[in-house]
Amino acid sequence: MTQHPVEKTPVTLLGLGAMGTALARTWLTTGHPLTVWNRTPAPAKALAADGASIADTAAAAVAANTLVIVCLLDDTSVDDVLSGTDLSGRDLVNLTTSTPAQARARAEWAHARGARYLDGGIMAVPPMIGVPETGGYVFYSGSRELFERHRRTLAVPTGTTYVGEDPGFAALHDIALLSAMYGMFAGAAHAFALIRKEAIDPTTLAPLLADWLTAMAPAVHQTADHLRTGDYTSGVVSHLAMQVAGTPTFLTTAEEQGVSPQLLTPYFELMRRRLTEGSGEEDLTGVIDLLVR
Ligand code: NDP
Repeated sequence: MTQHPVEKTPVTLLGLGAMGTALARTWLTTGHPLTVWNRTPAPAKALAADGASIADTAAAAVAANTLVIVCLLDDTSVDDVLSGTDLSGRDLVNLTTSTPAQARARAEWAHARGARYLDGGIMAVPPMIGVPETGGYVFYSGSRELFERHRRTLAVPTGTTYVGEDPGFAALHDIALLSAMYGMFAGAAHAFALIRKEAIDPTTLAPLLADWLTAMAPAVHQTADHLRTGDYTSGVVSHLAMQVAGTPTFLTTAEEQGVSPQLLTPYFELMRRRLTEGSGEEDLTGVIDLLVR
């Protein structure tokens, strides 16, 4: 009996920047027919040699396939590129980084033009695309049916994590994780600044820092339990009162080392405020309630 190869879903991809190009190569490598368009032609021409079809216009690219994937700079560029196209009957997957509100508005915009819509937030940098062991993935939200229909094709470049029917949730998860990352980078920047003028090799601090951050990261699970139950004191080992009492040591050390405390002070101020409101038996969960307006 003859074995027929599984048919690969044809893909249209709009946007061939660093990320779009990395995505494109994975679909080409796995034998998906790929139609590409980019405002500046050069990146598309480079992919043609690997088998991509080049569309002369965004409208022609959209017309070529049902599955249309967009990976442009921002929401404004999505508007610029898609507004002259006919989206009716298209499965639009937007991997452009946006805010949750922009993603929700874009979903309504797409539905009004007769398209189904899935939003994505990419948790990877281009070198991680097509390399599963790097752990990269894309958050998806919007139509579950659409996600299931194209799951295999979407999983070609990197992992997939579906986070709900609300089209804003992929962007929200994306920005939540990246915001936490910047907090971590801010802490690491302060740590390196503290040793900057000392006879300490930064490369000896780096592994200590990485291991410490890794050891502390699971604390987020207790924070989540506190938020879910409303009991901010369960399992607390480092009380807020103790932690606030320790903050002058951090600030004085910064001063002694000639380092600005500007990355630490906003957080310390919130800790002190929470303590003043009489929550010394908690740990740091209560700070979250001070942030939510
Ligand atoms: P690049 O800056 O490399 O590419 C931007 C792309 O958008 C290019 O294709 C560019 O076209 C196009 N573009 C910008 N403005 C317009 C416009 N007004 N009209 C038409 N096309 C436009 O960005 P990336 O490829 O790196 O990023 C793409 C998306 O992926 C972004 O939303 C980014 O946040 C997200 N992302 C990127 C990551 C990364 O590490 N690179 C990581 C995670 C997410 P042209 O070539 O003609 O300039």
